[in-house]
Amino acid sequence: MTEVIDAAALRKHIGRLTAFGPRHRDDSRAVSAALDHITGCLAGYGYEVVREPYGDAPHEVNLLAERAGTAMAPVLEIGAHWDSVAGSPGADDNASGVAGLLELARICAAEPAAPRTVRFCFFGGEEHDPGPCNGSRAHVARLDATRADVEGIIVLEMIGYRDLRPGSQTFPDADGQADLDLTRLHRADFIAAVGNVEAAAYLAAIGDGGAAQVPPLPVVAVPLPSDHEANGARSDHQPYWASGRLGVMVTDTAEFRNPHYHQPTDTLDTLDLDFAAQVTQAVADAMRTLAHRPAE
Ligand SMILES: [Zn+2]
Repeated sequence: MTEVIDAAALRKHIGRLTAFGPRHRDDSRAVSAALDHITGCLAGYGYEVVREPYGDAPHEVNLLAERAGTAMAPVLEIGAHWDSVAGSPGADDNASGVAGLLELARICAAEPAAPRTVRFCFFGGEEHDPGPCNGSRAHVARLDATRADVEGIIVLEMIGYRDLRPGSQTFPDADGQADLDLTRLHRADFIAAVGNVEAAAYLAAIGDGGAAQVPPLPVVAVPLPSDHEANGARSDHQPYWASGRLGVMVTDTAEFRNPHYHQPTDTLDTLDLDFAAQVTQAVADAMRTLAHRPAE
């Protein structure tokens, strides 16, 4: 049986997470409420949740849950950062990604196990504290230290904002857009999949997942070199690139379309949950394809 992503469940998760307040170290009550929400949901789906602290403070923690595969093959990770900047409820950035990741974990638990293990990673500390991606950086360092057989990651980084008006999409001045036809992309109705060139199979699987939606979800694949340091490297996939692994960021392009980016106005009512559900469903299709892919 194939499970389907539930837009109402995404709305519920984002509503809960944003109601706690900014998921930032300045608000330990919101941090622990958010961590409890994620842990409780995962436990309810049948997962054993692993806390991965990377410091002594209460906010310095990743939460991990995995669905064991049936074969010996490199692990596929799927991630999202649960923290947000001070002063912002972080509905799009990144309660939307956390909600999508919880739904992916739910359907993965409800379906027969695939050959590959799939691990769901809820990272802390993606926002600058003071440097970026503290949680994912520590997680990848642990993978390297233990020679863990992890192939790569798909990161959900803001998946809830869409604007169908012409001219609603903007772009950085010169950043990995050499092959993009910008006249076609002036409308903020697509999702971007930014990956290192080695992650071509991940990008293709997400593109296929988008094409399978009704109506089709436009997916713009942006392959970049692993040493890219500009906008395309701005999330938890970057430490995977740096460690020689595969990494893809699935994103609505943040401030290049969403005027509420890092603002107090990044609220649930500005999001398009049908869009978020389509994006999550496309990633769910990719997750199934990649988890059944034989080891190379
Ligand atoms: Zn973010």
